[in-house]
Amino acid sequence: AKEEGKNTFVVYDKSMHMPFNERMNIEKHLRSAMINNEFQLHYQPQVEIRTGLISGFEALIRWNSPVLGFVSPLSFIKIAEDSRLIIYIGEWVLREACNFMKSINDRTGLPYKISVNISIIQLLQDDFVEIVLDSLKESGLAPNCLELEITESIFMESFENTVSKLEFLKSRGIRIALDDFGTGYSSLSYLQQLPISTLKMDKIFIDSLVEKAYSQSFVQTIIILGHKMGLEVVAEGVEDADQLAFLKESDCDKVQGYLISRPVPQHGVIELLEPQRRH
Ligand code: C2E
Ligand code: CA
Ligand code: CA
Ligand code: CA
Repeated sequence: AKEEGKNTFVVYDKSMHMPFNERMNIEKHLRSAMINNEFQLHYQPQVEIRTGLISGFEALIRWNSPVLGFVSPLSFIKIAEDSRLIIYIGEWVLREACNFMKSINDRTGLPYKISVNISIIQLLQDDFVEIVLDSLKESGLAPNCLELEITESIFMESFENTVSKLEFLKSRGIRIALDDFGTGYSSLSYLQQLPISTLKMDKIFIDSLVEKAYSQSFVQTIIILGHKMGLEVVAEGVEDADQLAFLKESDCDKVQGYLISRPVPQHGVIELLEPQRRH
């Protein structure tokens, strides 16, 4: 992400600036990555500020290609979307995330939540709702333990189609989060039309919290607005204690970021939850 001008924030993805042959090369290897089991999920905890306890995790995909090495999702997700491979990758992510969180909840006896990033390409598929319900059913995970993270890009696609799907899923108890909030092009009036439960404020605003009055006002306003709308507000990319203190004072609900933990593999989740089980 890059800051442009004074009060505008623009987000770029790495593949946008990639030479054509590099994109083609990634796409070629992506095609075989699924069947060769090259993907893994890492999990980053979300902490409830009020209690200081982990309430859930965001699932983040990792790709270790035997040819290309570790490739960041910032480099391959857009390519997976353009080639529509994201449909299969995204379905795998959803199933894997639900299965893993069910096993954690069984083990701990607690209802930890899992947040899964959903591409607009997935959401536009006719069988999207079915796949989500199926992932829950097959895993046995409680619907209110699943949160789908969507971005403001849904405002640019067939809005009615996607919103009715999200409304249906929400009516089944599944939570919907609006990710990267504040970086897209949606107007605030659209917010009311979305069946969301959570607002995730983008890292870009958290980054500049300490030095920029503009970001402070933005963050405080979003928290107030979100609460007035009955939404939970999450801050992402929280890296230091000053940011956390400001967010706590501003009544933000949850934080996620390197200050708490980087995304960790499965065994890391169990290690992170171990100390809180003794309380
Ligand atoms: P995102 O959904 O906004 O996820 C947050 C990103 O910020 C993650 O990067 C996470 O590792 C990183 N992050 C978290 N806390 C901090 C922090 O304190 N400081 C810094 N500098 N970074 C932090 P990651 O894992 O590289 O993912 C990048 C993006 O790729 C995600 O952004 C999301 O848009 C996409 N992505 C990742 N996994 C999936 C997936 O399974 N499906 C889809 N469709 N997209 C995914
Ligand atoms: Ca996300
Ligand atoms: Ca985000
Ligand atoms: Ca982001």
